[in-house]
Amino acid sequence: MFPLSTGMAVLAGLSLGVLGVLWVFYERWERRGGSAARPAAHHCVRCDAVYGAPRAGGGTRCPRCGHPNPPLRF
Ligand SMILES: [Zn+2]
Repeated sequence: MFPLSTGMAVLAGLSLGVLGVLWVFYERWERRGGSAARPAAHHCVRCDAVYGAPRAGGGTRCPRCGHPNPPLRF
């Protein structure tokens, strides 16, 4: 093993602290709805329209032709 200087130890500790804060923030954001609160992209298989709509349990209807479409998954 190589010796770890005090500066490197402080820098590593700060990095781990920042990651821990981001982790806690992300966990709380997911519990409050997280990605479900953001709109999802949809592609209509009937008229080829691409639109955004809230993430619903099932599909959402196309604003152009009314055909129900599931959200796109990447
Ligand atoms: Zn459509």
